[in-house]
Amino acid sequence: MGRYIGPVCRLCRREGVKLFLKGEKCVTACVLEKRRKPPGQHGELRRKVTEFGKRLREKQKIRRVYNVREQQFARYFEMASKMPGNTGENFLQILERRLDNVIYRLGFALSRNHARQLVAHGHILVNGRRVDIPSYLTEVGDEIRLTESARTIADVQKALEVRGEWTVPRWLQRSLPEMKGTVQSLPTRDQIDLPFDESLVVEFYSR
Ligand code: SF4
Repeated sequence: MGRYIGPVCRLCRREGVKLFLKGEKCVTACVLEKRRKPPGQHGELRRKVTEFGKRLREKQKIRRVYNVREQQFARYFEMASKMPGNTGENFLQILERRLDNVIYRLGFALSRNHARQLVAHGHILVNGRRVDIPSYLTEVGDEIRLTESARTIADVQKALEVRGEWTVPRWLQRSLPEMKGTVQSLPTRDQIDLPFDESLVVEFYSR
């Protein structure tokens, strides 16, 4: 299935929660607060949610937040299930380690979509080398830096203005003057501040 390119607020309305897909607007002018009704002609009809439906919705919610295609999402789950420890936590950890997410977490981009663009357009250096693959999985010790040219991009400056003061998760370290960040450790579940129930995703793929 291709990447969704329609209106992103519709996705939040579909899931009934704020997924923070639009950057600054999500904080200052979120449409979900005014329009809670699910999208579509029959959006308001009450339907009984099955156990399968619950698991599916949770999976879709997480996939939409990280903006990952279905196939890749399933591949991440397979990777997570082969790792030692809790599969759900491993799964979220893999998603958090994606380079586009790390750029977003460091506050260098307005949204994960914006971070994805910065990576794809070659504005990011990892350990001094240009990496243009948004799904690149960062490792402990990786140094992630914005190129000189990226620092002049209006949206990057806007992100720093809006998100520069935001706290960076403990598994990352940021230096704003150098426009760089370092992966200090792998994120643990309590350091991932998203209200997901990843156990439902584990159940979804284990069916
Ligand atoms: Fe979702 Fe942001 Fe749109 Fe609100 S403004 S509905 S959080 S994408």
